[in-house]
Amino acid sequence: FFFPQETLRELREAAEFLRRHDDILVVSHVNPDGDAIGSTLAAGWLLGRMGKSYVMANQDAVPSKFGFLPNADRIVRSAELAGRAPFRAAVFVDCADRARAGDAAGLLSPDAAILNIDHHATNDRFGTQALVMPDASATCEMLWHLIGVSGEEADASVGECIYTGILTDTGGFRYSNTSRNVMILAAELLGLGVQGHVLAERLLETMTYAQIELLKRGLQTLEFACGRRVAYVSVTLKDLQELRTDSSDLDGLVNYARNVAGVEVGLLFRQDAEDKVKVSFRSRGQVDVSRVAGAFGGGGHVRASGATVAGTLEEVRKAVLREVELALE
Ligand code: 5GP
Ligand code: MN
Repeated sequence: FFFPQETLRELREAAEFLRRHDDILVVSHVNPDGDAIGSTLAAGWLLGRMGKSYVMANQDAVPSKFGFLPNADRIVRSAELAGRAPFRAAVFVDCADRARAGDAAGLLSPDAAILNIDHHATNDRFGTQALVMPDASATCEMLWHLIGVSGEEADASVGECIYTGILTDTGGFRYSNTSRNVMILAAELLGLGVQGHVLAERLLETMTYAQIELLKRGLQTLEFACGRRVAYVSVTLKDLQELRTDSSDLDGLVNYARNVAGVEVGLLFRQDAEDKVKVSFRSRGQVDVSRVAGAFGGGGHVRASGATVAGTLEEVRKAVLREVELALE
């Protein structure tokens, strides 16, 4: 693996941070995905190896499909910790800004030391110390390097967590973030005994009932804009409630919009409340969708980003389509 000197220094400082503190809270973003859960578990694993006491928390529940990962049952919901004394040290993983952790960010004392570990180019470098690697495919990839510079020996159990984040954030080793480093790392992980094909089957080739039903309903809403350079699907609050979905049930739905030949931007509008819509942006043209999401207070990557926007489904669709149209010019 090759890193810029600056990155190596940040990695060493991050390891130092972990050594310096104890009773550490590990948190990630709301509606956690494979990289959020994988990197939370990998950070917890490293802290355990260092002999530290730590608590892993998330505002939202661990999606059931990640429940099999080692120690996933130890990630508690932040509400369960409400009565506890505030933490004086925390590690944020896969969060481009502090607010992405939602309620979990409220478990800290005002002067808490924060280590921010993330791979989003839009990361605002919040916290006492930031380790940001925009070239990393996943925050999990960074955790592998952090374990390495910490002098710990990774095993298959942490390997499985790391593989999960990389597998999901690269779309099964297909997206443009599937770098040479990713392939080398994947090979290392297989060498540790990680069963890549079993993880792929569980995480990519298995759909819950809610997920396939949402796909059916979502595809019926598929519409085009801007001369079919944009395609979008919508999921209503009613769909989400009827199907009692968890956050991972929408995984992949937006890709159907993006995958239509000729489409440059695919969008998913998920109505979270009467007046609140989560928008997922996917690009495969020239459009930097992290900038479009940024215009709505969100962020992410050049080809995959998101934002939560106030307004009815109709209002948000209109406002977002207008902004996307500007970005296409
Ligand atoms: P998704 O659309 O799958 O929720 O997210 C795609 C990418 O955008 C992920 O990298 C995710 O972290 C980022 N993202 C999604 N929603 C938000 C948001 O509200 N704020 C920021 N800063 N990033 C987001
Ligand atoms: Mn990620």
